[in-house]
Amino acid sequence: MNDKSDPAAPEEIRDYIRDIIRDDLAAGRRDVIVTRFPPEPNGYLHIGHAKSVCLNFGIGIEFGGRCHMRFDDTNPVKEEHEYIDAIQEDVRWLGFDWGEHLYFASDHFERLYQWAEHLINSGDAYIDDLSPDEIREHRGTLTEPGKNSPYRERPIEENLDLFRRMRAGEFPNGARVLRAKVDMASGNMNMRDPVIYRILHANHPRTGDAWCIYPTYDFAHGQSDAIEGVTHSICTLEFEDHRPLYDWLIAHLPVDMVPLQYEFSRLNLTYTVLSKRRLIQLVQENHVRGWDDPRLPTLRGLRRRGIPAAAIRDFVSRLAISKSDGTVEIALLEHCVRELLNKTAERRMAVLKPLKVVIENWPEGETDELEAINNPNDESAGTRRINFSGEIFIERDDFMEEPAKKFFRLAPGREVRLRYAYFITCREVIKNDAGEVIELRCTYDPESRGGQSPDGRKVKGTLHWASAADSVAAEVRLYNHLFNSENPGAEDDVLNDLNPDSLQVLENCLIEPSLASATPGEAIQFERQGYFCLDADSTPERPVFNRTISLRDDWARIQKQKQKS
Ligand code: ATP
Ligand code: MG
Repeated sequence: MNDKSDPAAPEEIRDYIRDIIRDDLAAGRRDVIVTRFPPEPNGYLHIGHAKSVCLNFGIGIEFGGRCHMRFDDTNPVKEEHEYIDAIQEDVRWLGFDWGEHLYFASDHFERLYQWAEHLINSGDAYIDDLSPDEIREHRGTLTEPGKNSPYRERPIEENLDLFRRMRAGEFPNGARVLRAKVDMASGNMNMRDPVIYRILHANHPRTGDAWCIYPTYDFAHGQSDAIEGVTHSICTLEFEDHRPLYDWLIAHLPVDMVPLQYEFSRLNLTYTVLSKRRLIQLVQENHVRGWDDPRLPTLRGLRRRGIPAAAIRDFVSRLAISKSDGTVEIALLEHCVRELLNKTAERRMAVLKPLKVVIENWPEGETDELEAINNPNDESAGTRRINFSGEIFIERDDFMEEPAKKFFRLAPGREVRLRYAYFITCREVIKNDAGEVIELRCTYDPESRGGQSPDGRKVKGTLHWASAADSVAAEVRLYNHLFNSENPGAEDDVLNDLNPDSLQVLENCLIEPSLASATPGEAIQFERQGYFCLDADSTPERPVFNRTISLRDDWARIQKQKQKS
């Protein structure tokens, strides 16, 4: 147990599940704590899964126990190797390791089959010949009890014979199922003789053609926990109603260890969807550019976008582990990302929408080497040299021919500071035939080198810039929320809530030369713009950058609004 007076001990995390575990340990009901993360390999992990990963692996670590990685691979029709590999890679990227404890429900298929025979032999399961539709009709509704199947009282020998012939492949898909004999009148629909085995002539990613009958998730899940010695089986709330069934199965099977199930609420996030079905649809219908599209809440998408695993862990650690459903502001995640990157990211200058500036009084052919700070929050990051000469680019939005009130940047006749360089004053505005501003003629003050005021005179604006001679052309991708609605799909088809401006591609950006050789994923702050990272689509000729997140933090504002209402 953590001693709070010991400064070296990590702060004790409190939630209802950890409290139960502490009690179980203190009372001697358990000596080792074993949890598991149980994905079904039918899609990529998303940030909702990260909540479960951090909870399960976190508990394993905090209590000196362990967390298993277990694939619930009971549905060969939807499951693929690609997902099995990707899920492992993503959990490792998040920062967790299961050591040798990698399991698959399919590892237990033979044992599960034997346990199904055990239930048949005890009169607790029967083969039903009703069609899937008939089974549904017999099941009843929430207000009406179900009806017993005419096959419910089949003799044990006949059930056993049929079950073995199901395994032997004598029957087509859907011809028969094995059902647990629980209670067709139960108020809990899950207890109305649930199907525990079905016929599926399908190739399984791991067992190939060895089986043509497969256990249902409900039959495999709790039993896998028992086989693997999972002490605390933690899952999301939708399984609360399945718990009585899991308890019933465990009570009717010869297991040594009874895993205890505890539920917590799923993570829901504003402006996004966290359902595999929805995410698959977005990818398959090309609403995004793939599973790792930086607009998706998949771990691959977040990673490609430049969000560090540590920011995701920090975000998850701020979420309540409880039984009340709710939706978390995506601004909280963004806040965690900014907070981390502000400390770690080096600063560079990049001009996303360039406007040419010619310094008329710059000495012909000369280049000045200036010093720029890499990270004001981390002195050890040092400084770098950047070249300045008579032709540069500034951000188009940093100039207004007729400046609005409170616009303190460049305007005709006005003086501003170029970061790390000089004070410049705009003397002339050059336009094309269409009347668009295409160039500014400016003069600089040679006495203001390094951006220092020579005589105490003040300028209100400081602009970033790019040198015409050295800059490298780059593509920059700006991302906004994938959906316009806080709760996509709440009112209408979710696709109607897609934000048409979720991706903005800027083709002609100018970046500092050193940025072209950045490492993909490494976070960089483009001064005044946000945090960016090099994208995997980059080539040596043409770097591509993703905007991870802009600099403006909405979190404090949202909190204040909440307090008011
Ligand atoms: P679907 O959302 O399509 O129903 P799933 O996300 O539940 O599928 P699983 O592979 O079963 O897919 O999830 C693995 C684990 O992650 C489960 O224990 C599940 O409860 C948990 N999990 C899934 N989504 C969330 C979420 N949004 N928040 C917290 N935990 C989640
Ligand atoms: Mg699930």
